Amino acid sequence: MAEGVRRLLGKPGSVSLQPYIKLLKTIEEREEALRKLSDAELTEVATELGNAELPYDRDDLAELCALGREAARRTLGERPFDTQLIGMMALLDGHVAEMATGEGKTLTGALAAVGFALRGQRVHVLSVNDYLARRDAEWMRPLYTLLGVEVGWISQESTTEERRAAYAADITYASVSELGFDVLRDRLATDVSELVVPEPNVAIIDEADSVLVDEARVPLVLAGAAEPAESDAAMAELVRRLRPGIDYKVDDDGRNVHLTDTGINVVEKALGGVDLFSAEDTTLLSRVNLALHAHALLHRDVHYVVRDGKVRLINESRGRIALLQRWPDGLQAAVEAKEHLTPSETGEVLDSITVQSLVLRYPIRCGMTGTAMAVAEQLREFYELEGAVIAPNKPNIRIDEEDRLYATAEEKEEAVVEKVKEVHATGRPILIGTQDVAESERLAKRLRRAGLECVVLNAKNDAEEAAVIAEAGTYGRITVSTQMAGRGTDIRLGGSDMRDRDRVVKTGGLYVIGYGRYPSSRLDDQLRGRAGRQGDPGGSVFYVSVEDDLITTNLPEAKGYRVSSADGEITDPAWKEMVNHAQRIAEGQLLELHRNTWRYNQIIDVQRSVVLEQRRAVLHEDLGSRQLAVDCPETYQRLVEEVGEEEVARAARLVTLYHLDRGWADHNAFLADLREGIHLRFLGRRDPLDEFNRDAVPAFKGFLDEARARAAEMFEKLEVVDGRLDVAAAGVKRPSTTWTYMVQDQPFSTDLENIVGRVKNLMGRD
Ligand code: ADP
Ligand code: MG
Repeated sequence: MAEGVRRLLGKPGSVSLQPYIKLLKTIEEREEALRKLSDAELTEVATELGNAELPYDRDDLAELCALGREAARRTLGERPFDTQLIGMMALLDGHVAEMATGEGKTLTGALAAVGFALRGQRVHVLSVNDYLARRDAEWMRPLYTLLGVEVGWISQESTTEERRAAYAADITYASVSELGFDVLRDRLATDVSELVVPEPNVAIIDEADSVLVDEARVPLVLAGAAEPAESDAAMAELVRRLRPGIDYKVDDDGRNVHLTDTGINVVEKALGGVDLFSAEDTTLLSRVNLALHAHALLHRDVHYVVRDGKVRLINESRGRIALLQRWPDGLQAAVEAKEHLTPSETGEVLDSITVQSLVLRYPIRCGMTGTAMAVAEQLREFYELEGAVIAPNKPNIRIDEEDRLYATAEEKEEAVVEKVKEVHATGRPILIGTQDVAESERLAKRLRRAGLECVVLNAKNDAEEAAVIAEAGTYGRITVSTQMAGRGTDIRLGGSDMRDRDRVVKTGGLYVIGYGRYPSSRLDDQLRGRAGRQGDPGGSVFYVSVEDDLITTNLPEAKGYRVSSADGEITDPAWKEMVNHAQRIAEGQLLELHRNTWRYNQIIDVQRSVVLEQRRAVLHEDLGSRQLAVDCPETYQRLVEEVGEEEVARAARLVTLYHLDRGWADHNAFLADLREGIHLRFLGRRDPLDEFNRDAVPAFKGFLDEARARAAEMFEKLEVVDGRLDVAAAGVKRPSTTWTYMVQDQPFSTDLENIVGRVKNLMGRD
């Protein structure tokens, strides 16, 4: 025990695990008593635990842990380890539990969910995708059932009724995006009966670092119908003729492109001698910029693929096709024009919410991840969350080799192929992690040429990827995958059924090869973590070259290395440290981006919450009628006499909501233009955030008064038709279709998270 306990004790930066560890003995004692109870009696014990409020006192907490442990043993055949109970208690205290891959975070989260649910909290377990939401909910269902709590899940395909039912359960599993889209769609409700998502209580966030850090900046957007975008074929044709390096230049980091003076001349002449920078023709300049961006920065098969006559985005960080996703309208149309495709329809943004704001709605937040400490600062700064580092149940014996550094990309590739050949000869399974889909494809081709058969995980759906990655531990298997593909799926040695486990263990277990370091050490660690799960043998190594994007982007001036051997390897420790240095720069930039979004969104969030509060009062407290009764007393009185109080209240609600929503959509468009304009006006001179706030704040002044005045004006015009007030004739329109998507907040950058998602097309949701 003593040795075990010492290993469990927290790491620097972690909250103290002492109070949890102290309880372990009591929990075991309680467990013995619970073993003797029937299933029905266990359910009874659970119900009794629910007869109090949060937080649990120590006695009840011990009882809860023992109960969860016994219930899991009976229903899932898995008796939670001490580490899982510690994780569960950390979650109940509102922390982020750091537990390595394969340590059983699904069950840990479920036990905590029970704890919250028994005490009357509505729990949302947030996953990174639909596949995992459904898998985990169904997997844990027997446990929940025995303990008398209801569980539901939501996926992209769920109907409104299914969603309502899932949200009505005590515990609801959903992907972050589906939840966000439901929240956004609720903002269009004109009657309380249309609402789907209940008030937020507790969020348990799986893969918390991905959700809270990597995807935090991504806004989820709700858009309403409009017409197809105009194709800019002429502009696409024009930029196609421009000469790279002469007519236009791409920045070193590949995120920006601009016309040179020569290019400006060429374009102006081609457009019939216009002045691109003349004040009247600003749209012309942005059209050229969009076409050029599509042409020079977005590459087919890296950023998108063309399939069935449509542009399908590749989600770079996940390395898969993002179904129904799109870039912001202008850019989408520009890429479609570049590829000679029919333009798809455009829409007006009705509202949006960032993942970060979505999560911050929950008064109680907690989560689990394999890598919390690496983002401890951000979890604290943006979410007021602390990390609890929990050692693995069995010590990790994975061997992490030192990076191998090469002068050129070609030499690195050569070295990796040689390494794969050598390791594969022993039958040891190999998992190679690449930076993106295109790289996976290239490398797979190269391996096959060398006679090495491999499986490539590419742009398939999450369920298929899970099935493939689950077999990555098969004897003799070589799997090539991006870092994120198949996440959440366990890699068991010897294949998913562990048929060959002993044989694979003898080879040394799964061998992970990183094909280049990622923009953060956390992502490196996640890849490594694929090997050595639950005390399994395993190994990892990263191959890096001086020509890797990470180095050329972040340390472009790094020159003068000495190659140590004929195959191009560099062993100079100073140079190897350079790689870490480049990674730290990349990490710093991502953090800066996050902060920046945070700052932009703060002002927008404040303004939105003013509108939402007003909306809530109109929906639930009849604020619309009360205001109109004051603003137009005579009309109000007359209409009540004609059609009755209830009908007037209905019309007042619809008219008031219409103007609130209309006003907010217009304000949104204004803010989007403002931001884009600030970007185009060009960076550097003034602080863009100051510029933004300088215009955004006054533009919102008087918003509510204006909406109210317009509602009153429309109310005066209402006419009675067949005993009803005809709000449509007076001008109240609701969007005929809406759809939702995720947008990178900086439309003109193409970094790792330049992910634009377009997900659904549902009004009335069914
Ligand atoms: P993580 O999310 O931490 O990577 P999972 O929740 O996917 O891990 O669980 C990994 C594997 O460990 C699963 O196959 C699960 O069945 C198994 N597992 C979890 N908890 C236990 C336990 N207490 N005893 C035995 N197996 C467990
Ligand atoms: Mg997991």
